[in-house]
Amino acid sequence: MNADTRTIGFIGLGHMGGPMAANLVKAGHRVIGFDVVPDVLAAAAGAGVEAAGSAVEAATTADVVITMLPAGRHVLDLYRNEGLLTAARPGTLFLDCSTIDVADARSAHEAAVAAGMRALDAPVSGGVVGAEAATLTFMVGGAQAEFAEAEPLLAAMGRKAVHCGAGGAGQAAKICNNMILGISMIAVSEAFVLGESLGLSHQALFDVASTASGQCWALTVNCPVPGPVPASPANRDYLPGFAAPLMAKDLGLAANAARAGGVPVELGLKAAELYAAYAAGAGAEADFSGILQTLRGGTAPEHGSGPRNDAKGGTPS
Ligand code: NAD
Repeated sequence: MNADTRTIGFIGLGHMGGPMAANLVKAGHRVIGFDVVPDVLAAAAGAGVEAAGSAVEAATTADVVITMLPAGRHVLDLYRNEGLLTAARPGTLFLDCSTIDVADARSAHEAAVAAGMRALDAPVSGGVVGAEAATLTFMVGGAQAEFAEAEPLLAAMGRKAVHCGAGGAGQAAKICNNMILGISMIAVSEAFVLGESLGLSHQALFDVASTASGQCWALTVNCPVPGPVPASPANRDYLPGFAAPLMAKDLGLAANAARAGGVPVELGLKAAELYAAYAAGAGAEADFSGILQTLRGGTAPEHGSGPRNDAKGGTPS
């Protein structure tokens, strides 16, 4: 072990947390992990994570405690009710990488600091593929000194980390970005559906919009119709990719924040409504670009006019 090696308590070893913890092990860190699902914990142990018997046990000897959990209530419950903040050594850095409500992130940050700990919110973009390949982007909220301390760990799990401001700013950046993405995917999908009704081929609309003012990630990378971008999920029956329920979750968080602040994000609220309905039905296991099919009111016919790809790949979230 060299001087930069840290002991990390990693709580939540699911689709994202599992590979992130494995990448910290690969970078030479000691990772003590915990998950409430025994099979998930066993899989992480197979990747070199030391299995703890509880979250508290994982935190007790850690320099840094990372959480990668489903929602704010899980993070706050561990911090406040399950004794994580009292079990850790004073000054331990708590790094929450889950995507949670901005208000919950601020509460978690305050609870950690009140308990004598240090805290950062660091939600991610890049999906499971990015977690496995250590190519995630981290959006980080908290003090500069803590950000600087966390950077080597973030570098072991991702390729970019942006310091967005004070506690909660990472979550704010994440939901604002994904609100742009959700709205723009609906806009692109509606344009293709309208184009279809006007007799316009998918390829023609793609060729124009991808090099004109309609250009955006939802069109050029995650194109919601099959054909123009061969790597997009539309070409593999909308297999995710970025799953529609995760988009629905993120838009719900954006809607919560907008309502709490009285901010009139009309398109954001409409996108949240459309994605909630899609994720609860046909899109439960689909990529978020599959929403085009519900906007069309049926199943997508094959309208593309031959493969072509001049876009860069990637996964947004
Ligand atoms: P997941 O459900 O696969 O993993 C969450 C893990 O937390 C589960 O294994 C669960 O058993 C565990 N867990 C729940 N409560 C716990 C507790 N009290 N103690 C210990 N473990 C507990 O979810 P995921 O896809 O890994 O996502 C994790 C977070 O990352 C979410 O907030 C999600 O929104 C966000 N995110 C996910 C993706 C993605 O593509 N999956 C992308 C970006 C961000």
